[in-house]
Order: sequence, then structure tokens, then C-alpha cells
Amino acid sequence: MKTHAQAVVIGGGVIGCSILYHLAKLGWSDVVLLERDELTSGSTWHAAANIHGLHDSANISRLQHYTMTLYNELEAETGQSCGVFQPGSLYLAQTENRAHQLRLQAAKAKLYGMNFHEISRDEAERLHPLVDFDGISCIMYEPDGGNVDPSGVTNAYAVGARQRGAEIHRFTPVTATVPQADGTWIVETPKGNIHTPWVINAAGLWGREVAKLAGIELPLQPTEHQYFVTETIAEIAGMDRRLPSVADRDGEYYLRQEGKGLLIGAYERDMKFWAEDGTPLDFAHDLFPDDLERIEDNMMRAIDRVPVVGEAGIKRVINGPMIWSPDSNVILGPVPELKGYFCCNGIIPGFSQSAGMGWMVAEWLVHGEMKYDMFAWDIARFGLWANDREFVKAKVKDQYAHRFAIHYPNEERSAGRPLRVRPAYEMQREMGAVFGLNYGWEHPLWFADTPGTVDTNGFTRQNWWGPVGEEARMLRERAGIIDISNFAKYRVKGPGAEAWLNAVFANRMPKAVGRSCLTPLIGVRGGIAGDATVTRLGEEEFWVISSGMAERYHKRFFDAVPLPEGTVFESLTEAVCGFNVAGPRSRELLQRLTNASLATEDFPFMRSARIEIAGVDCVALRVSFTGDLGWELHCATEDQARLYAALIDAGRSMRAGPVGSRALMSLRLEKGYGSWSREYSPEYRPQEAGLAGLCKMDKDFLNKAALEAVIGEAPRERLVMLALDETDVTASNADATGGEPIFMDGVGVGRVTSGAYGYSVGMSLALGYVSGAEPGDAVEVMVLGQPHRARILSEPPFDPEGARLRA
Ligand SMILES: Cc1cc2nc3c(=O)[nH]c(=O)nc-3n(C[C@H](O)[C@H](O)[C@H](O)COP(=O)(O)OP(=O)(O)OC[C@H]3O[C@@H](n4cnc5c(N)ncnc54)[C@H](O)[C@@H]3O)c2cc1C
Repeated sequence: MKTHAQAVVIGGGVIGCSILYHLAKLGWSDVVLLERDELTSGSTWHAAANIHGLHDSANISRLQHYTMTLYNELEAETGQSCGVFQPGSLYLAQTENRAHQLRLQAAKAKLYGMNFHEISRDEAERLHPLVDFDGISCIMYEPDGGNVDPSGVTNAYAVGARQRGAEIHRFTPVTATVPQADGTWIVETPKGNIHTPWVINAAGLWGREVAKLAGIELPLQPTEHQYFVTETIAEIAGMDRRLPSVADRDGEYYLRQEGKGLLIGAYERDMKFWAEDGTPLDFAHDLFPDDLERIEDNMMRAIDRVPVVGEAGIKRVINGPMIWSPDSNVILGPVPELKGYFCCNGIIPGFSQSAGMGWMVAEWLVHGEMKYDMFAWDIARFGLWANDREFVKAKVKDQYAHRFAIHYPNEERSAGRPLRVRPAYEMQREMGAVFGLNYGWEHPLWFADTPGTVDTNGFTRQNWWGPVGEEARMLRERAGIIDISNFAKYRVKGPGAEAWLNAVFANRMPKAVGRSCLTPLIGVRGGIAGDATVTRLGEEEFWVISSGMAERYHKRFFDAVPLPEGTVFESLTEAVCGFNVAGPRSRELLQRLTNASLATEDFPFMRSARIEIAGVDCVALRVSFTGDLGWELHCATEDQARLYAALIDAGRSMRAGPVGSRALMSLRLEKGYGSWSREYSPEYRPQEAGLAGLCKMDKDFLNKAALEAVIGEAPRERLVMLALDETDVTASNADATGGEPIFMDGVGVGRVTSGAYGYSVGMSLALGYVSGAEPGDAVEVMVLGQPHRARILSEPPFDPEGARLRA
């Protein structure tokens, strides 16, 4: 065994082997995989190994599509069979919402050149004569759907990796990972040690145990999962072709042909955790006792749909473990607190995603960043708060039991909450706040008349749509108070503060105390890794305000630039809370609570000051994401409730009151303001998002060389505003939400990044990236997966000159 390697992958399941293969493919051939047993000794060997291309997330779909395509290429390349069967998949909708979901997925598939289309009942019956299609309102067909052989695929990756120079050592458990002073690692095994700059934890069911070797905890929890295979079914034995698989997600089971019988698996409501205190080290090619009673309800629904299942005997039951994250997406990426430690853990659809995942890991390691915006997979989407065991268990239980439920746009699941609350929480609850979860925090989405109200869910406008409109109009007509404590806040203090910020961010930092600037943060490929407002509060003190959910993600960037001697960077996110008081009468409201003059001549737009509001010390910034006259007030967390009570009280007589974040999202859309992870992501370049003017190419900053390489290029696509035709949207009673494809004359030209109704302008609005379409052009936005007429706007519909903002 070699003693040095560019990277060491721990774990020889399908994921570890795919990572090894993709690293070698991208040119890192000096890589080693260590497996404590045989390859496939975790969840991999016993998987049903169904493969699907479609997903609600377009980027995940693209990676699943890549995975399904690669399996055939891998066979040809390595000579190792992957056991690929692609008889197609049938997706069934029993409800209107499921039909909306499938049609939206089909529209996305069309945009990305994937094959997924609606078929008639006749055609479906011809494809799968054993299914009873009664009660099915929409049937989608994915011709590439099917299944693979789990150990065939894993071994094919292993062969492909070895052919490209990678080493694999079986029966070689990793017993320690020891960080070195220079940021590298020693990986210890009974067969010797390996020195490496990169440790990759792909230990599947043992992801937690391997993480502990490096002193970290991961929010993961294994569960049991079952499927069974029937004896031979005469009708199938008599066929000269293979039947398509059936995704009857409303029935909460999956079904496909296995041999001459059927394989049926289920995610039951009454789920069962396994190994809560840790995965046993001696568990390998083991299974649990059969427990078919637990999935009986699901089986009965499968029998109703495919009656031959009820007559067939059961040949084999597989009850095995799989390991989940709190939102059932993989936990992937370099651990922000450690140097050279990469995680790829908690994978549920390993066979649908293995190649895409291996490719993204390799891209990140070899090129420093992934090709696509995959924040949905990034380990940094969870903070350390997510390691709370009760939270993890509640979330995993909910994810497992609702694996096949529709996940709606704007959906907020209640499991495991509240986890983190701020002092104003109780007051907000009593005022009717309906809360959402943002980086573990509860925050008001909207205010209902009755406390205890919860969101209804759907693809169309829901119970919150009307009240959110009232909040938005209240703010535009008078004033509103928005809790913005979710924003990430950082203080940079010391003699080198200005120099350090200039070295991190693309814009030039303000010279004068009391001034603010907006600035992008540039990614490794020259895309937009972040956007922030930086305010100079003193000669040597700056505050940075940025996206709250990106705090751990941005840590990687901040840590990349060393702090000058004597300069301190600290997060104030927990210590400081904030409100945005905005609207044409916000000055009047606030002036009632302070002696500081808020007149424009004393407190102009983009200025800041330390002032007292209702006796509470605040950092006040004259900015507002609503695009209206307004101030952001940031105070100590212990003062939040006192400040909130005073603001609500002062607003009462002018009929101003609390506004939630859903209204804020609508208000910022009326102004065309972009938001991180929607319009701003490393996938987009500044010139595509309209942020090029904020990048000062005459100074140095993080990843400037990458931006220099692309800034001169013509935009590949451009961020635009769209207004949907009212007659079209009111007919379906829905707005765009983000992710909907945009077509022009039947050709895909882009996709929506955010959508909402603009209540104060009376328009159904969207932001999106398009290529080959210009302001004034008529396009079609696939809201609910159906074409809706829309036009590209040349300016934001609300206050395009910014007069309100500067009033
Ligand atoms: C019943 C069942 C059915 C499933 N059906 C499907 C399906 O239809 N489609 C689908 O896409 N997915 C399915 N899955 C999920 C799929 O099996 C997983 O997503 C996938 O196998 C995860 O692979 P992995 O490589 O991450 O982990 P694992 O397969 O758990 O592999 C981890 C490897 O790491 C090794 N390891 C651990 N600790 C160490 C150490 N200290 N040193 C060295 N090596 C170590 C282990 O021995 C193991 O081989 C199913 C799972 C189950 C349980």
C-alpha cells in the first residue's frame, strides 16, 4: 500500500467507488480507496437499485440523467456488467397536485433535453398490462427508467478507477484520521498509514463513526427499509419483454420486475430507526428479520393497483439499513471547520445519483467548485445546530414517512421544530405569525388572524396568499415591520479591516464612516458566491450583512483570506437581531421613537448611524430590501422583544404592523432585486446578473483571476424580470415559484429563479435567466407545467427610478 496519495476515499460502497472513478477521470490518478470489508458491504449490496432521472430540482435531475447515461458507458469502458435494465418507468398521478408535479417535471425535462412525457391510458396499458389504471388522472413515461445491479455498478466504478491508476484496498479498515499541523492528514489502517491532503468520508452507514475519527459530528440517522420479491408470475413469465417500473407515489410504494416476478418496496408511515447510538462495527452483509406487517398498508395499495401481486407468493424479503440526513439530501462538501476533510454521506437514492455525485465531488476537489449550484447538497446548509439528536430523529422520521409525498414550493415541514427561537418569537406567535425554518431559526412567514394557523400546501395560491397581499399593501401604503434577524451579520474590526474586506469582496469598501456599499463575493469559477452590504461604522470597524442560510457556506471564502495582525472577524448573527421598518410612513413611525433626525438631509439613503430607538441601542442602516423608504435596525438579541414591542406600538395608530418574509419576497420582486441561492449563485457570472458594475477590476480580491478570465465574455444568459399574463394566471390561480422553464416559440430559452404575485403593482411576477430573449419579447412560463403567456419587462414595475428608496 502506498504511503502518500492525493486523496484517500474511506468506504467502498457505490458512492465511494464512484468518487474514486471520477477523481481518476478528472486527472487525479494518485488516489486510494480503503474498504474495511468487501466492496458493497453497507447499504449498497442489498439495494433494489431502481434508477430515475426526474426530480423536483432541475440540477439534481441533470445529475440523475448523467448517472443513468453513464452506466451504459461504464459497461463499455470497463467490460464489467452493470446489469442495466431500462424498460422505462410509469409515473402515476392519483390527485390533481400530483399531476401538477409531474407536468412541471416534464416541462423541466424538456428544457434539459431529457425524455419524460405524458401518455394515454391506452398506451400505458399496452406498456404495462398488469396495472389497473382506474383513478389515475395523469400518466408520465420515462423511457430510460429501470434498474441496475448494485454490485455490478460498484465493481464497474472500481475497475474503471483502477484502469486510470487508482488503488483500492479491501479488508482495510480506517482506524484513525489524524490531522497534521500543515492541514494534511494521516489515515491509519492495520496495513499501514497514508499521508494525504484530502480525506473523503464515503463510509455510508458508518459515516458518523468515521466522522468521529476526525472529531466531528454529522446529522445522520439510519432506518430500516424493506422490499420483497414475489415468486414467478405466470403473466410475466409468458412475456418476451421486460415490464416498465411503476412509480405510484400516491400509493407510497415502488414496483418493478425482478426476474419473472415483481419487486415491491415501501416507505411506511410507521417507520423504524436503527442504530441510534451508532452503527455496529461488525455489521457487514447483514439484514434484519422480515417485518412485512409494517408495510402491509402499502402492500395492499400495490395489490389494488397491480392485482397479480395479491396472488403471487413471496420469494424473498430484504429488510436492510439506509442512512438519512434531516432533509434526505446528501451531506456533501468540504467541512468548513476542517482543512482537507470532505464528506459525502447520507445518500438515499444512491443508484439514481451515484455518478452525478461522484462527478460533483471530483469537480469540487480538482477544480475547487462544482459545475452546478448544488447548495441543496452542501454540508454547509446545516449548521452545527442540526446535530441536535432529537431534531435529527424527528426530521428523519418525517422524511422517511413522507418519502413519496409531494414537496410543494413554499412547503414548511413542522417536524423537529421549534429548534432555535429568538426573544420576539412568543410575541410574534401571539400576533398570528406562521413560522418557517431558516438555518434552524423560526422566523415569521406571514401573520394570520388567528394564532396557531398553519400553511395549507399546494402548487396554486394557498391560504397565505391573501394575508401576504394585505401585508405587502400595508407596507407600500403606510409602513411595515419585518423581522430580518435571519440575515447573517459579521463584524470586522481592527487596523486591517478595510484591507481585508477589500481582499475578500469584489467592490471597493467605503472610505467614509457611515457609508455602505453592496458587493458581490466571487466564486472559484468567477460566478457569484455571495452578495453583501458592507457598512463602515468606524475608522476600523465594518459590519457585513449577508444571507443567513449561507453563513457556513461563506465561511470557506472568509477563511481563504488571512486576517491581518490585530484584526478580528466575528459572527454577530446570534448576538444581534434586526428589523426592517419600511414604507412611505416608516420615517414618521421611527421618528416617534428617537431623537436622532431621520430627515433625508441628516440620514440619506445608504448611510448608517448608531442611534437609540425606544431606548434601545441600534445600528441603523438606511437600506431596505423592499425597495421602499426604510431602515434596517440591528440591536442586541436581548433587546429584540423590547424593540419589537415599541415598533409595533408606534405603528398601531397609523395602521402599520408586522410583515412576514413572504411579503418581503414579493416586495423585492416588484423591484427586481436578486436574492442569494436564487438569482445569485456561483452558476451565474456578475455580468449575467447585472452586478458587473460592482466588481472593481482595478484592485485585488478573492478569485479575481477567475473573474478576469470570464468577465469579458458575453453573458451566456441574462437575469430578466417577467410579468405573467393575468388572464392566464388567474385561470389557474397560481404564480411562478422558481424552477419553471421558459419557452419562446416552443424552444427553451431559460428558467425562473423566483416568482410571486406583486400585490402593489397587481402583476404576477418572476425573475429568471434567459438567453436569446429580450425585454418586450413574449415568452411562455411553465407554471404548473402548462404554458402561461408572459412578457419580459424592461424595468421593474415598482418605482423604477428609486425615488421611494431615496425619499
Ligand atoms: C432495502 C434498500 C433498498 C434500496 N433501494 C434503492 C433503490 O432502489 N435505488 C437507489 O438509488 N437506492 C436504493 N437504496 C439506497 C442505496 O443502497 C444507498 O443510497 C447506497 O447504497 C449508499 O451507498 P454508500 O456508498 O453511500 O454507502 P454504503 O453502501 O453503506 O457503503 C459504505 C462503505 O464504507 C465502508 N466503511 C465503513 N467504515 C469504514 C472504515 N472505517 N474504513 C473503511 N471502510 C469503511 C463499509 O464497509 C461500506 O462498504 C436502497 C437501500 C436499501 C437499504
